[in-house]
Amino acid sequence: MRIVQKFGGTSVGSIERIQATAKIIKGELDNGNEIAVVVSAMSGETNRLLHLANSMNDNPPMREVDALVATGEQVTAALLAIELHKLGVSAYSFSGAQAGFKTEGSHSKARIKAVQSDHLIQHMEKGSVPVVTGFQGVDANGNTTTLGRGGSDTSAVALAIAVKADSCDIYTDVDGVYTTDPRIEPKARKMDSISYEEMLEFASLGAKVLQTRSVELGMRYNMPIHLRSSFDLVQGTMVTREDSNMERAEISGVAYNRDEAKVTIKGIPDQPGIAAAVFGPVADADINVDVIVQNISEDGQTDLTFTVPRSDYDATMALLQTLCDKMKAREVMGDNTVAKVSIIGVGMRSHTGVAKKMFDVLAQENINIQMITTSEIKVTVVLEEKYVELAVRALHEAFALDQV
Ligand code: ADP
Ligand code: ASP
Ligand code: MG
Repeated sequence: MRIVQKFGGTSVGSIERIQATAKIIKGELDNGNEIAVVVSAMSGETNRLLHLANSMNDNPPMREVDALVATGEQVTAALLAIELHKLGVSAYSFSGAQAGFKTEGSHSKARIKAVQSDHLIQHMEKGSVPVVTGFQGVDANGNTTTLGRGGSDTSAVALAIAVKADSCDIYTDVDGVYTTDPRIEPKARKMDSISYEEMLEFASLGAKVLQTRSVELGMRYNMPIHLRSSFDLVQGTMVTREDSNMERAEISGVAYNRDEAKVTIKGIPDQPGIAAAVFGPVADADINVDVIVQNISEDGQTDLTFTVPRSDYDATMALLQTLCDKMKAREVMGDNTVAKVSIIGVGMRSHTGVAKKMFDVLAQENINIQMITTSEIKVTVVLEEKYVELAVRALHEAFALDQV
């Protein structure tokens, strides 16, 4: 088999962990597999580097921030290659640019355009291990770029597709995808498998165990993703195509995201084109809008409320204030202490009353729902951040997710 193995921050977080990781790689090579590796920076390192940049300048140039944070992954790639040599394994570290990761789009949120990695296949065929830095690439002008937080997952899946691997194994500090974040609910249960579709919802609704774009890529190219632990080499969770024969529970899991803020523009004259007039400039400012609610119009005026990532809260409020004046709206309000809790599952297609049950459970806990959005396989509510843990645990229990 040809396998791309990705090791996250905790799996390369110390010299001891790098030594343990090198042994895992050697083990898979000795089993007769061809291996390429993608690594993250040591855990905490990306945050440390970002903090250094921000301590010098509140608004550092993003080209330089990318150049800085990309070094985190370069350290671990080189150290891991050094350790592999010690174990008698031929290994070479490659930066994103050296590995052929071509990107487009803005600094700190670049997208992979192509992975030109034929030279890595040649290494693998000779039994040697390319150790590639995750999270980074190079743009058309030769600048170092990064792919957004958690981006090494996406690097790994993209590399697996480029080198035509049979599997992309993502090693982390949990032994699989759980019914909810095990750090919040110790009764969370590991899933043996999950469909790309459900995993995509999990990831985009806040389960940061896999970066959303890595799941999108896996789904598009049908690359099996095996999420597993580097601390305990048991079978993890397979993310693959849906097995349509399976009997489905009402829901498969609960996700949450604290990185949310809510903004409202009140008393806008209700005319055709107002949504476009608000969301056009917001999109132009590269701000991702999520849940949107527009009230019924009263006296020819309406209110528009939507959520944005918390890091974009100040920018959104400033932008809306300008729009408010321009559109002759009444006022702008905001709250950056909200969060999102979601229930997810393809079983919702065949079970009725799932959303109602969710609302009942939250009502029993006296949790006020501020906004609601649904799709065929998820229900999301926006609530006060302080209720996240309570809501997650109550829903996990009510939908019997701790039981097989
Ligand atoms: P890495 O550094 O290896 O990329 P991450 O911290 O990005 O690791 O992702 C692993 C973490 O994701 C786990 O420690 C866990 O707390 C969190 N997590 C959130 N939701 C889930 C879930 N549903 N299943 C498993 N882990 C989850
Ligand atoms: N080191 C980067 C981060 O902390 C990328 C990753 O770990 O996936 O976001
Ligand atoms: Mg991660």
